[in-house]
Amino acid sequence: MNKLDLDFDRNHIWHPYTSTISPLNCYPVSHAVGNQIHLESGEVLIDGMSSWWAAIHGYNHPRLNSAVTEQLSRMSHVMFGGLTHQPAIGLCQKLLQMVPPSLQHVFLADSGSVAVEVALKMALQYWHSRGESRPRFLTLRHGYHGDTFAAMSVTDPDNSMHRLYRGFLPEHLFAESPQTGFYEPWHPQDIDDFQSQLEQHHHTIAAVILEPIVQGAGGMRIYHPRYLQEVRKLCDQFNVLLIADEIATGFGRTGKLFACEHAQIEPDILCVGKALTGGYMTLSATLTTRHVAQTVCSGEAQCFMHGPTFMGNPLACAVAEASLSLIETGDWQTQVQQIEHFFATHLPALQQYGMVKDVRWLGAIGVIETHQPVRMAEIQAHFVRQGVWIRPFGRLIYLMPPYLSTDDDLAQLIQAIERALQQPALFFQ
Ligand SMILES: *Cc1c(COP(=O)(O)O)cnc(C)c1O
Repeated sequence: MNKLDLDFDRNHIWHPYTSTISPLNCYPVSHAVGNQIHLESGEVLIDGMSSWWAAIHGYNHPRLNSAVTEQLSRMSHVMFGGLTHQPAIGLCQKLLQMVPPSLQHVFLADSGSVAVEVALKMALQYWHSRGESRPRFLTLRHGYHGDTFAAMSVTDPDNSMHRLYRGFLPEHLFAESPQTGFYEPWHPQDIDDFQSQLEQHHHTIAAVILEPIVQGAGGMRIYHPRYLQEVRKLCDQFNVLLIADEIATGFGRTGKLFACEHAQIEPDILCVGKALTGGYMTLSATLTTRHVAQTVCSGEAQCFMHGPTFMGNPLACAVAEASLSLIETGDWQTQVQQIEHFFATHLPALQQYGMVKDVRWLGAIGVIETHQPVRMAEIQAHFVRQGVWIRPFGRLIYLMPPYLSTDDDLAQLIQAIERALQQPALFFQ
């Protein structure tokens, strides 16, 4: 194999949230199998990230591979306007079997951010059809809903630097994020700020959008199911739609198929993405009820006004359907339980390090919050030397390994974190 031109990569290719002035080195990957990432250097890393919540079944999975190659020999893509195909139908049938029965209509989109855009547009069109002007959304601080403009406008204003885009970004309403942790006794006043915002502004609010139970990229916060129950009640009381963004939490990650199940609530609109294709390619979906869909389509536009070029891409649908088949076997349940048990047994001990502010976990999500932010290049190099792939951000070192991770894999991941916590040089002081 030719030597990779890493200078070219550094000088010309943008990676997520990176600088062209002082780019950090990236680690070149040659291939990945199961939960192992093989670097070009020959080093093998145990994956702690599932490539950002996506590769839940691990890499290079035989069933997923054959779903792609079989579909490839039929067609990789045809337009979805006026045409349809078995991969889309099969996928949407499986999806509807998994979600709450009130959700009946599926919009296939290209990425998580687009699924959020679609959800917001659905809510706006819903109220437009009903002859009401409701231009605003209510969401939670520390949320994350994506990087496109509408998604960013409902993402935490500080984390997504709203001030950079002032004048262009619509201004929505932010309630205090939930303070009661998942395992703590419920504090009823936790919902007060949300409730008062809804009381004051409900006539102008099209929908509430939030990440159920786990706020991901905006702070890895894991909150009490009661909060979500109260949100559902208040949305009903004030006649506001509820959008659940399960792009990170969907498909078993929190120990339930969907995080909303922890609170036994059903949203009016549901966004899924990330793990939908088992991490094979980009695909997302926005699902809604018959009532919302029919209201949207009975308005001035007579249809839902969105239609991406690569909508319903057959390759992506085929692999997503195969991924959902793997989920249907139910193996994820014991796997995620075993990971949760391992986290519950081993993460609390990390509290002994002065560096650590908090540890928390739920399902196959483990979070170590430190007092000081990490030095990215240094800690990344540390993890690679330890034979693991963990990518922290800010003051958060977190794990969301593929479901097939064994106790030995998890022990190695946590040991690598423990060793990092013993080295102040890996953190800003
Ligand atoms: C990742 C994420 C998104 C955005 O998905 P992309 O595929 O990166 O556009 C939206 N919402 C949540 C909760 C996410 O975790």
